[in-house]
Amino acid sequence: CGIVGVTGKENATEILLNGLKKLEYRGYDSAGIYVNDQKGNGYLVKEKGRIEDLRAAVGPAVKGTTGIGHTRWATHGAPSQANAHPQASADGRFYLVHNGMIGNFRQLKQEYLADTKFVSETDTEVIVQLISHFVNEGMETKEAFTHVLSLIDKTSSYAFLLMDKTQTNTLFVAKKKSPLLIGVGDGFNVVCSDAMVMLSETHDFIELTDGDVVTVTPSAVEIEDKDGNQVERNQFHVDDDA
Ligand code: GLU
Repeated sequence: CGIVGVTGKENATEILLNGLKKLEYRGYDSAGIYVNDQKGNGYLVKEKGRIEDLRAAVGPAVKGTTGIGHTRWATHGAPSQANAHPQASADGRFYLVHNGMIGNFRQLKQEYLADTKFVSETDTEVIVQLISHFVNEGMETKEAFTHVLSLIDKTSSYAFLLMDKTQTNTLFVAKKKSPLLIGVGDGFNVVCSDAMVMLSETHDFIELTDGDVVTVTPSAVEIEDKDGNQVERNQFHVDDDA
């Protein structure tokens, strides 16, 4: 299972599909992407099965500059198109990919989302619906994201990549116990579970620490640690023959 993301590239769809193809070695049962352009058009495509099946399902209209992609290894909910990621909020505003598992997702669902209609059996959908819930109560997106992270119990693990349809350039990132790196570019940035899958785009990567919450745009990578302090993290260079 794995995650890819990109912001600030004309061919985001191709970068995501090629990245997912290279992540195949980690194993998966389904895959999907969400891409949006600068006009606010968004495209969600998910398939059970191989990356080639996903690629075939991606029509020529699916073009954008910012997007997220996922290969799933199911922990909650059978392999299916509905359970594939990205998972979306009911209003279609938020899109989330997730590697790992959320230990207390049933409690969170019961406590906050008794009236919400769910379309999947995943723990991940609870998290994206919860972010939407707190935004509807008046929080900013990042505030809601950070708040939801604080509700997730200690047994959980996650690498999260979140998109908000109303912020077409931004990727919201968080990680705990699951691998995730930021790849740094000139006028663009990428996110990935494994540097090897993004070497076609960049050779410079930032290593995240558990608890970090990161906002990524084409021109900036802003990292906050678990206490909300702005921090710099170690950057490293990967050679082609690494
Ligand atoms: N727990 C999530 C699910 O079952 C993510 C699994 C993964 O790491 O791919 O959908």
